[in-house]
Amino acid sequence: MKLVLASNNAKKLGELDAILAPLGWELVPQGQLGVAEADEPHCTFVENALAKARHASRMTGLPALADDSGLCVDAFGGAPGVYSARFAGDPRSDARNNRKLLAELGDSCQRSARFVAVIVFVRHADDPQPIIAEGEWAGEILREERGSDGFGYDPLFYVRELDRTAAELEASEKNRRSHRGQALARLVERLQNRR
Ligand code: IMP
Repeated sequence: MKLVLASNNAKKLGELDAILAPLGWELVPQGQLGVAEADEPHCTFVENALAKARHASRMTGLPALADDSGLCVDAFGGAPGVYSARFAGDPRSDARNNRKLLAELGDSCQRSARFVAVIVFVRHADDPQPIIAEGEWAGEILREERGSDGFGYDPLFYVRELDRTAAELEASEKNRRSHRGQALARLVERLQNRR
C-alpha cells in the first residue's frame, strides 16, 4: 500500500523505508507528489506531527506518515522543544544552535535533557484515530562538543551509560537507542497490530 511521507528528508525516508517496505508499505516523499511543506504553528510535537500528516494526506488522498522531533532541556522548562531547528534563528544552523545552548546553560549544573520524537500515521486526512508513537532519549548537555557524526545537537548530547555523545555513536547504534528509533519501533508494532 502507498503511504505519503510528510517530509523530503532523504535520511528519514531511507530509515523509514528500510522498516516499512518489508511490511508492504511503499513510502513516497510528499515533494514527489507536489505537496509543499505544511506550517508547524503548534507548541507541541504531537500537534505539529499531526498537522503535517493530515496536510499530506489531504493533498494526496493517501494515508500519511509525519514526524516531529527536538531537544528538551530540563533547565529551560523543555525548550527549545519544537523550536530546536531554529533555536538560534534563521537561517537554520546547527553550529549556532549549539553555541546558543552552551551560552544559555552557562555554568549551570542542571544539564539534563532529552531528545523527543513523535511519529504520526493517519489513514486519511480526517482520521479520528491516528496512530501516535512517541520516543524519548535521556542525556546530559556537555560543556563542549565531542564527536563528529550525526547532526544537530548530537555533539553536546552525552549518554552516560555509554560514556559517549550521540555524535560519537555508530549510526546503527544511535538508531537503535534514539528517540526516533524508539518511536518508529512503537509505530510499526501498532501498525502491525491494527491489521
Ligand atoms: P526535525 O524534526 O527533523 O525538524 O528536527 C528538529 C530539530 O531537532 C533538528 O533540526 C535538530 O536541531 C533537533 N534534533 C532532532 N533530532 C535530533 C537528533 O537525533 N540529534 C540531534 N538533533 C536532533
